[in-house]
Amino acid sequence: MDLELEVDHGARVLHGKVTHRLERPDPSAPLVLDTAALEVLEVVGEDGDPRAWSLGPEAGREGRALRIDLHADDAEVTVRYRTLPTGEAVQWLEPQQTAEGTHPFVYTQGQAILTRSWIPCQDTPGNRVTWSAWVTAPRDLRVVMSGEGTGPRPVPGSDHLLRWRHELPLAVPPYLIALAVGRLERIAISPRVAIFAEPSVVGPAAEELADTEAMLAAAEELFGPYRWGRYDVLFLPPAFPYGGMENPLLTFATPTILAGDRSLVALVAHELAHSWSGNLVTNATWEDFWLNEGFTVYCEKRIVEAVYGDERARMEMALDRTGLEEELAELEPWQTVLDIDLEGHHPDDGFSGVPYEKGALLLRRIEELVGRELLDEFLAAWFDEHAFESATTSEFEAFLQERLASRRPGALQQLDLEEWLREPGLPADAPRVTSEPLLAVDREVSRWVAGSAANDLRTEGWNTFQWLRFLQGIAADADAARLADLDATYELTRTGNAEILAAWLALATRRGHAAARPALEAFLGRIGRRKFLVPLYRALLEADAEAARALYARFRGQYHAVSRETLDGLLGFEG
Ligand SMILES: [Zn+2]
Repeated sequence: MDLELEVDHGARVLHGKVTHRLERPDPSAPLVLDTAALEVLEVVGEDGDPRAWSLGPEAGREGRALRIDLHADDAEVTVRYRTLPTGEAVQWLEPQQTAEGTHPFVYTQGQAILTRSWIPCQDTPGNRVTWSAWVTAPRDLRVVMSGEGTGPRPVPGSDHLLRWRHELPLAVPPYLIALAVGRLERIAISPRVAIFAEPSVVGPAAEELADTEAMLAAAEELFGPYRWGRYDVLFLPPAFPYGGMENPLLTFATPTILAGDRSLVALVAHELAHSWSGNLVTNATWEDFWLNEGFTVYCEKRIVEAVYGDERARMEMALDRTGLEEELAELEPWQTVLDIDLEGHHPDDGFSGVPYEKGALLLRRIEELVGRELLDEFLAAWFDEHAFESATTSEFEAFLQERLASRRPGALQQLDLEEWLREPGLPADAPRVTSEPLLAVDREVSRWVAGSAANDLRTEGWNTFQWLRFLQGIAADADAARLADLDATYELTRTGNAEILAAWLALATRRGHAAARPALEAFLGRIGRRKFLVPLYRALLEADAEAARALYARFRGQYHAVSRETLDGLLGFEG
């Protein structure tokens, strides 16, 4: 598909035109496109004449079907449209929501089924398209997209606009088409890796991500060639609802991973791993989401191990496991199944740590049974033989049988794959890791629980993972006075590490450590990452429901629809 877009920050509108070039296995069938919060203006054929079209009934967040009656020989069709400010993919940010505070910013987030709110298209991960785009924007802003860019060109008759060209000749599902427009600068960190961010962020960001080329080389060593050309990372303003989004050639990332010590860069390993699991081989439906995320978490840990060593990978895996167990206790059984049934649900309703962590544990269990060498061969073959295709859970099962069961008869018989894929909860044979540095923390947790004062704890040299383990460990025994002692000693309320700060603020809020309240309010008013907002609002709801609702009403307009959708439910917000 070929896109033309014009960015209007003032009206919060993208003026769009998309031309779809079509494969028509049944020339008598109409073309049906997904749309949501789009105003369709005109539909024309290649001959420039209008084609009959109609919009179906509103189907909630799924939007409205656009039905176009094509002529029998139509090989392409063009839809002219504009986005409505209520669309879920596009977030318009005011200058004060950016790092510089001087220019507006806009970006899109397509996963799972939000691309239809800025491009009328067949918005399913089972569909793949090549695309190109011309985007017109004010000349003091830079346009970046999840494709190959060729730089700006003048707009005839205008001295304040520029047109930017991007294209991707590799076929991707529509959720992987992404756009960002803002005051962005670029720093190259290797011939094929660069960082984009606002001017005051780009330097520290490039420093933090200095190991990205090493990660890319490690990933290629493990999983086969990187097929996308460039690998760049864009840092968005803090309103971005996710840690990262694996948009091809251009990972979108939250600035909350910029801790100053590279301790949170596993996120980059994760998004990079999606270049194989997810972007190269894509879940055919959102019920197969674990094929994207479980494979990716497994691959992420392998990259972390290759670049930062086994000890760090084990710390991260141990923390993930604890997080999964805590989450499993909160979820409904249907949400804890890998091969999830989403009948009657929006894909986002199935979103949890389960496809990520339980999925990765399944691959680690298979690694335990067949050995790393065979599993690596299996993974490389899976990626290679399904490249630029979509895959289902049953295709995974068949491939496992064909490629691994035959190589190690007996080994896989110990695996109850049916239980792993289709039963709720975590199977008893889910691998556990031990981590010496975390065991050292557990000893200090025990001393603290037994009454040791904060300044008696042996915390010298603790890294991010150790502090996170400590905060997890003391949660059940903390009271306000003891938290105040910890805060006075370690200045946790003032940490610049967003992971530690979010964990600390949730604990402090729940246990009534009042001195942390201003930091909590500042955090909620600045950061839009759902992973942090949900536990923080939940903690505040428990401690002071009225304050939680008042703060949410104040900040809700600054959050992306992805975060709002979850938080509206949590806080009982009715707009
Ligand atoms: Zn992911």
